[in-house]
Amino acid sequence: MTIFDNTLDADGALIVGAGLAGLFTALKLAPRPVTVLSPKPLGMGASSAWAQGGVAAAIGQGDSPRAHAQDTEMAGAGIVDHGTAEGVTAEAVARIEDLARWGTPFDRDDFGNFELGREAAHSANRIVKVEGDRAGWAIMQAIIAEVRRTPSIRVVEGITALSLARDNGRIVGVYCRRLGDRYSEPIYIRARATILAAGGLGGLYAVTTNPPGVRGHAMGMAARAGAIIADPEFVQFHPTAIATGADPAPLATEALRGEGAILLNDLGERFMPAIHPDAELAPRDIVARANFRQIQAGRRVFLDTRQVLGADILTRFPTVSKYCHDAGIDPVNDMIPVTPAAHFHMGGVKVDERGRSSLPGLWVCGEASCTGLHGANRLASNSLLEAVVFGARIAEDIGGLEPARSLAPFEGIEWNEAEGNKAEEVLRNTIAVQELRRIMGDLVGVERDEAGLKAALRQIAHLEATAEQVTSAFLNMTTSATLVAAAALRRTESRGGHFRLDFPEPSGDWEHHTEITLGEALAIRAGA
Ligand SMILES: Cc1cc2nc3c(=O)[nH]c(=O)nc-3n(C[C@H](O)[C@H](O)[C@H](O)COP(=O)(O)OP(=O)(O)OC[C@H]3O[C@@H](n4cnc5c(N)ncnc54)[C@H](O)[C@@H]3O)c2cc1C
Repeated sequence: MTIFDNTLDADGALIVGAGLAGLFTALKLAPRPVTVLSPKPLGMGASSAWAQGGVAAAIGQGDSPRAHAQDTEMAGAGIVDHGTAEGVTAEAVARIEDLARWGTPFDRDDFGNFELGREAAHSANRIVKVEGDRAGWAIMQAIIAEVRRTPSIRVVEGITALSLARDNGRIVGVYCRRLGDRYSEPIYIRARATILAAGGLGGLYAVTTNPPGVRGHAMGMAARAGAIIADPEFVQFHPTAIATGADPAPLATEALRGEGAILLNDLGERFMPAIHPDAELAPRDIVARANFRQIQAGRRVFLDTRQVLGADILTRFPTVSKYCHDAGIDPVNDMIPVTPAAHFHMGGVKVDERGRSSLPGLWVCGEASCTGLHGANRLASNSLLEAVVFGARIAEDIGGLEPARSLAPFEGIEWNEAEGNKAEEVLRNTIAVQELRRIMGDLVGVERDEAGLKAALRQIAHLEATAEQVTSAFLNMTTSATLVAAAALRRTESRGGHFRLDFPEPSGDWEHHTEITLGEALAIRAGA
């Protein structure tokens, strides 16, 4: 199909984003027609491909979905939706079977049983792993191959969505641009159903584990179109990103602490046992804050795997070992320097149990959504699970599409490596983007307070008003940043991933989700 009048037809459903959420939904929709938009070649630019731990599923002997749901609720600090937790954990095994059927080579023992890992705040071994710490990469390779084999899925690479298109209050598609093409008119792709699966917002922070393109675009786009946003203040900081100065910061998976690795400061002190009875396996926000405070006090923090893993780290954690080697660290004999980094967004576009947003015609899946599963703090390895469970539900919910034999490619839109890399560099080096990421890290980060949040909101408004070029992509980022900071200012308590120095305790008055629109966030910003 060629572009006519800058309008294209998705011929059915349109999925924005090609991480696990987007691709799994596409496969579940088959043989109904679906077009998937991906800024980069499939597998690149998605957090999904970087996941190290695996997928949580109560699959082991003696474990149960009920126990998994209870752990999820415990980690979520009082505001997990009970029904969502019960439903998602109950559907886990069926979705793992889907992934296995599509070729994911899960780690199994000699009898074919899943090998199950342990991560913080799980009461059982229930992390289904692939190739040690390469779960995300291996799952994505398998489902990308399945997507490529499926003729009813049209994949468009080298394109980025800017805004949602609305007609009479209904979402009817998206406006997009070819990567690197900043000056021509946006292309309008119209669709019968639009599924936003463009990831979280870690990249809004100066120190993050997320890929560079995952910067709050999804939540920003939806909020600008009028969608209700839920819990945006809840950002999870991973305690152990490898502190090499690289952007993004490579991750040292929590499974290392599950294996018994400990945290030490540069004085050789192990500080976690004095802070929490579960020490290094305390909930992520507690470990992240402990590391943050050590670093604020001028100390360096290290993850010591030497005693528990020794040379085994090389074979059992090949991804972490490679990251270490790339940074000149010998993980067998040296401790690994670590730092907290923005990692996962519990909040997002509010959806119901079928993945429907508040805007007719718009479904949201994966980290871009807020299903109520994570509450104030995500339980490790629950996010890939959430992506596949809701992907399946969304595919079931979308009605009225007839099966298609195959879809013709969109002529003239394709990934161009030189252009794509240049576009990413331009965005990374844009002063306003750097400044936004600094503001978020300094003032809306691991620890927050009223003065800092108000300053952040004023500074974000100033950036919007004065940035050399206020593109839709930049507005999506500042919109998401505004929502996080405004909701964080409004929530005068501490809970899970949201910690207020001036309100350090949880408050019964706040034991509920946040719902906020962009209009409300802008009003809070105007008063800051
Ligand atoms: C280093 C790391 C390790 C992790 N480990 C685990 C783990 O072990 N277990 C677990 O459950 N979770 C883990 N997570 C979290 C998990 O990977 C993510 O929450 C999950 O993969 C999100 O999937 P997604 O499909 O929603 O988003 P992503 O996988 O991030 O995909 C988003 C897609 O949207 C595209 N996109 C972005 N903006 C636009 C736009 N404007 N237009 C079009 N497309 C766009 C991106 O290019 C990408 O294709 C980890 C995360 C990271 C970063």
